[in-house]
Amino acid sequence: MSYAFGVDIGATRTTLAVMDLREHRILAHQRVMSDYLFTGHRAPSAVLYEAVTRFMAEQDLELDKIVGVGVGVPGVVDRAEGAVLTCPNLHVLDGVPLAADTAARLGVPVYLDNNTNLICLGEYVCGAGRGVRDMAVVFVGSGLGSGLILDGKLYEGADGAAAEFGHTIIVANGLPCTCGAHGCLEMYCSGKALSAVAEKVFDARERFMLGSRFGGARLLIEQASFGHDGANRALEEAFTYLGLGLTSLVNLLNPRLIVLGGGIVFNWPRGVDVAREVVMREALPQVREKLRIEISELRDLAGVSGGAVLVALQGRLELIGQQEALAELWPCE
Ligand SMILES: [Zn+2]
Repeated sequence: MSYAFGVDIGATRTTLAVMDLREHRILAHQRVMSDYLFTGHRAPSAVLYEAVTRFMAEQDLELDKIVGVGVGVPGVVDRAEGAVLTCPNLHVLDGVPLAADTAARLGVPVYLDNNTNLICLGEYVCGAGRGVRDMAVVFVGSGLGSGLILDGKLYEGADGAAAEFGHTIIVANGLPCTCGAHGCLEMYCSGKALSAVAEKVFDARERFMLGSRFGGARLLIEQASFGHDGANRALEEAFTYLGLGLTSLVNLLNPRLIVLGGGIVFNWPRGVDVAREVVMREALPQVREKLRIEISELRDLAGVSGGAVLVALQGRLELIGQQEALAELWPCE
């Protein structure tokens, strides 16, 4: 038996999982707060090495059965070098050659990619996207991340920077974004955006419940479920923006499936209906006719599944190319 190990490093949480490569089945997984793991006191590769070895020991699984590790990070990576270039939500990883350093400690290949690309790969091979050749995955968490599968292939763009859907501009001269532009979708539909909105929705008495990072988004969702009008309106508005962004995306690329996920979507699944209504109203008829907009099937395990899939893929890639390797791993329609 051989295992592929997936690591999904999120801005808030890091998920570890071990997958049985023959059955494409996750045997065990674990979640840890990212701040707690990557404190900055120790090299990130040492932290990862320790997390993987401890996890395998706790699960009573043999470390030497791991054939490779697929790691997703919430930032821009150099895949060939296995290095994190920039990681705005987890600066401790900036410029770190994470794959090479971790591989040297573990003694197996370590592959690195953007975490939403891995979420996309996971949903495509093991989740809601099985058998679909053109799809987009959009995850609304702390930020807004996305990945694209076009004609059965993960689309990374000329410089590996494609699918930055969160930074498509939706409002002229809108809110300033961390990327330097104004009016990016992420500033209107994300945990960060909703937390800013929450400051305006709740009065001083209610606001004492805010506090932790992105606590405002959590409070909005909780109060919406109790029938708070302002909270419901704010969430509906955020997902209307998402629907408008998705309308542009489907008109441009004509995917057959959009998979929505991330903490905000999982905690407020009505957002999927709100966004779908907008797309079905606004998108071109030919594009929306066969389009499905669905919630993630793998949920919090999409990223680690994608990490494990990346390991399986890389083993075949050099021999037969990505498209053939994917088709072999999971035959399409
Ligand atoms: Zn931006």
